[in-house]
Amino acid sequence: MKCPVCNKGEMKKNKDIMEQDEVEFEVLKCVDCGEELMTMKQLKVLAKKYRELRKSKEVTFARWGNSLAVRIPNEIVTEFNIIEGKHGILTKDKKGINIIPIA
Ligand SMILES: [Zn+2]
Repeated sequence: MKCPVCNKGEMKKNKDIMEQDEVEFEVLKCVDCGEELMTMKQLKVLAKKYRELRKSKEVTFARWGNSLAVRIPNEIVTEFNIIEGKHGILTKDKKGINIIPIA
């Protein structure tokens, strides 16, 4: 694909990063004038990363006997109707830990 701005350079896939959020994304960059464009697919991938970032909360680990405990923010407690003594399922994958409250 030729660059629609300078009409000279070729558009090549390039990795870039949003410095302030440390969010990595892919764009098409002109090898000649440096113009950057995103396809709808690239834009959707970036939007998904931002949606996930907005939903995320930072938590602190605390010592609880031989285990570690995580304090769950109140808005999440309310949203998932979590009460003391209720059970949940903890699963893990290569990115981290998921807790699914049992109804
Ligand atoms: Zn160009």
